[in-house]
Amino acid sequence: MKLVHLSNQQFASDNYAGICPEAWSAMEIANSGHAAAYGNDNWTQRSSDCFRSLFQKEDCEVFFVFNGTAANSLALASLCQSYHSVICSDYAHVETDECGAPEFFSNGSKLLIANTPDGKLTPEAIREIAGKRKDIHYPKPRVVTITQPTETGLVYTVDEIKAISAVCRELNLRLHMDGSRFANACASLGCEPSDITWRAGADVLCFGGTKNGMAVGEAILFFNRDLAEDFDYRCKQAGQLASKMRFLSAPWIGMLEGGAWLKNARHANNAAQRLASQIEDVQNIRLMFPVNANAVFLEAPDYVLNNLREKGWNFYTFIGGGARFMFSWDASLDRVDILASDIRECAVECRL
Ligand SMILES: *Cc1c(COP(=O)(O)O)cnc(C)c1O
Repeated sequence: MKLVHLSNQQFASDNYAGICPEAWSAMEIANSGHAAAYGNDNWTQRSSDCFRSLFQKEDCEVFFVFNGTAANSLALASLCQSYHSVICSDYAHVETDECGAPEFFSNGSKLLIANTPDGKLTPEAIREIAGKRKDIHYPKPRVVTITQPTETGLVYTVDEIKAISAVCRELNLRLHMDGSRFANACASLGCEPSDITWRAGADVLCFGGTKNGMAVGEAILFFNRDLAEDFDYRCKQAGQLASKMRFLSAPWIGMLEGGAWLKNARHANNAAQRLASQIEDVQNIRLMFPVNANAVFLEAPDYVLNNLREKGWNFYTFIGGGARFMFSWDASLDRVDILASDIRECAVECRL
């Protein structure tokens, strides 16, 4: 573990941010007296209902877990048997950042990786992978997982998701969505959550709370109830059933009822746009991907990145070697402007 000291706001990750006031106060309100344990409480009931009304889906099954790795892994495990496989992008968090948890929790379902230049799966890529082998020696494709927005900050349009789900239906594949930044996708598209999930053919969504402004917690939404059978047991076995569940579920009431989920995501997306618009014409650097959500990826020569680090900026370079800047619900626009001018300065300074 490397200790990182932050004296100023940084944009290395959206989970550097704290808890937004709406989530915090909902937690405080829930902290009154006793409530039933393990999810049999009113807060959990009410937050599940918030999801059902937000998604305009009365019969949607809702579960709460601690983090995204658990949400994705357990959701995927519920969609397939151990001899099945899961098609994903080579950029997918389930492939690159979950330490094998999807394979572990599914007892060995193999991830089949599509090479995607920008992190987006396409119907063609799915068709190619699913059709590669039909024999009994190869794990049978059963699930497709897409990340909305992608790890590269791209947002699938409604039509793109519909095209993917059409191939899934045709090939008898189920569609899972890793929505660790789902709110940012909705803010970007200006659509209803249902438009890019069940109405577009997604079976299960992992809706991220942490990066949206909560302390901790992700919700798993099953739009097809049958697929949720025994999912509560799966969560318990995996150590993901919170005994004081109200503190995982109540913050969602604060996020969803007053629209903080969308407000937070809009702010984060605007911060990314603000940075991108100020640096897109700077020489020596290039935006690696269109800025659809709350991420900006910068391709720049090493000396530029080193100069930026020397000016005190933190960023990750694990995607394509470029610098990633990721904005949160409380991104300071003044800091964004300082970053933009520092990038400009670093890029034009001559190489020593
Ligand atoms: C952050 C993130 C997750 C969840 O990660 P945890 O650290 O397990 O909460 C899942 N998918 C994507 C694309 C992410 O960026």
